[in-house]
Amino acid sequence: MDWSSFPREKTDCILCGSSSCRLLSVQKTWPVVRCTECGLVYLSERPAEKALTNMYSRAYYEDGDVGYKGYVRTFEKYHYTFMKIFSRRHRDLLRHSTGRRLLEVGCAYGFLLDYLGKRGWDVQGVEISPLSSAFARSKLGLQVHTGSLESADLEKHSFDVILLLDVLEHLHRPYDLLRRIRELLSPDGILVVQCPWELYHWEEIAEAVFRGKRPGTIEPDSVPAHLYFFQPVTLDAVLKKGGFRVCARQSGNYGSIRRLVKPPEINRGNPIERFSRFVYFRLGLRRFLYFAARLVHLGNGIIRYAIPEEDELQ
Ligand SMILES: [Zn+2]
Repeated sequence: MDWSSFPREKTDCILCGSSSCRLLSVQKTWPVVRCTECGLVYLSERPAEKALTNMYSRAYYEDGDVGYKGYVRTFEKYHYTFMKIFSRRHRDLLRHSTGRRLLEVGCAYGFLLDYLGKRGWDVQGVEISPLSSAFARSKLGLQVHTGSLESADLEKHSFDVILLLDVLEHLHRPYDLLRRIRELLSPDGILVVQCPWELYHWEEIAEAVFRGKRPGTIEPDSVPAHLYFFQPVTLDAVLKKGGFRVCARQSGNYGSIRRLVKPPEINRGNPIERFSRFVYFRLGLRRFLYFAARLVHLGNGIIRYAIPEEDELQ
């Protein structure tokens, strides 16, 4: 997929509105900047919303280098690992939610919904891709709306839990979505947000230092599909601006599926780099650091449980 030919639009910081920013790097022709006022890292020039929406509704899940090529095949092949991830999610949801009516925004093929539905949750999904939402309905028998959350005909205050997993960083208008989620949550409902922590994460800083670069300049995933590169503090601030109060914080780690699909290269770079990669990936240093990082909220997945706050809607 040729992302560089997408129609472009410029944007200011979505968190504080400032246009003052510092260029960190240019990735695949897209400028990654850091707001000098609030610290949000984002693409100051991004694909126009309509172009991205069209793309998500067509090829994203089966085509190109930033989507989910062969996602169903991957799910089947690494079923055991997916089940471990879903089981952990299920356990966390039981701990944080007060009811069982659950909506997943951006549910893709519906595998998580299917898992939860079989364990007593009353599940629905919204998914922009006709391909994957049709799969969720026909193969898994799920109630999944094709399109955006705004276009889905859903009853107000009818969900105890709304999942927003790996979605927020893709949205041109995150506050519109958060406003709609507030409408759909029951009075004691909870929003679960998960985003990757890519830039200025300890692993990225270490890699940058190792390669003689400045932190924040390593190529993040999925440019230009990801429009923002959240850190815990900026994600919390976006949720607050969207009218939510964070009531619990959790840390996770991405990458277990990816490392199965594409095992990390060991024999790359100079001898020192090769030796370091061997120690990190093969001798278990990475596994130990990831484990420790989760415990101190430094994993590369940021998870937040948030509840609507009265009179905070912006
Ligand atoms: Zn800002």
